[in-house]
Amino acid sequence: MNFLLPLTGSFAQPAAENPTVAMIEAAFAHHGLDWRYLNVEVAPADLGDAVRGARAMGWRGFNCSIPHKVAVIAHLDGLGQSAQIIGAVNTVVRQGDRLIGENTDGRGFVAALRQEVDPAGKAVVLFGAGGAARAVAVEMALAGARQITIVNRSAGRGQALVDLLNDRTPAQARLAIWDGPFAVPAGTDIVIHATSVGLYPDVEAMPAIAIESLTPAMVVADGIHNPPLTPLLRAAQARGCRTVDGLGMLVQQGVIGLKYWTGVDADPQVMRQALLALRL
Ligand code: NDP
Repeated sequence: MNFLLPLTGSFAQPAAENPTVAMIEAAFAHHGLDWRYLNVEVAPADLGDAVRGARAMGWRGFNCSIPHKVAVIAHLDGLGQSAQIIGAVNTVVRQGDRLIGENTDGRGFVAALRQEVDPAGKAVVLFGAGGAARAVAVEMALAGARQITIVNRSAGRGQALVDLLNDRTPAQARLAIWDGPFAVPAGTDIVIHATSVGLYPDVEAMPAIAIESLTPAMVVADGIHNPPLTPLLRAAQARGCRTVDGLGMLVQQGVIGLKYWTGVDADPQVMRQALLALRL
């Protein structure tokens, strides 16, 4: 029997209520995989011991969430390409005796987005410059996005992401400071919201985006997965835009993790249904 150990620094939840556990365990059951995915709370000071324990017990891999995504790198043997550029890891994969860190957040996002639009050659406006935005921006750039405008409240984090994109990826990036309702420029193909505005329980919060600047030619994506249909996506749909929700990102990063760990191409619909059953 194989175990996967997600390391979380937040709080322990019963398995049935933890979205990632529910989604991954549903895929194991559907594909007849006799594996287990456990949620384990690890304090920052214990991270090294936890990784050594996972190594000693032969665990096939694990996920890690905030606050371990950067700190875990010191305990690993190598990084995949995008994890190296992003500077953060959410998925660890055992390859022989080595633990390799990958970042599947941005790749999950791009996989979900591709169901509506191919990022190659596109002009992108991305709201946010935190961990999720960083992962999404790097993967959009590696997927061939031509131009990425980072719109962020604080200049420091925004500029750091713009510099990263310009220095380490083929995309052209620029910064716009977010200090009021932001009008998305005409000619933008893809609008991505990757801040924490609108996350449960603040479900009616709307990011400061001038909705009248959205046009039916734009695809609008939201990283918020709880709730899946955010006020931003509702408003974008009313403007005639095609939309991509945050559940797609969550499911697709799980699909990529499962492929790394088990070699199986998991059914995303089964995983999405498991999340919807939680009434997110
Ligand atoms: P961080 O704390 O790293 O970054 C937060 C970002 O939100 C920053 O850019 C911050 O701006 C911005 N922000 C916060 N509040 C406001 C506000 N009131 N107005 C404008 N900007 C604001 O968080 P993460 O990047 O890790 O996570 C962001 C969101 O992405 C979360 O809601 C998370 O649930 C979601 N997420 C979804 C995933 C999925 O699979 N669907 C995967 C990972 C994350 P500033 O720099 O100015 O502080």
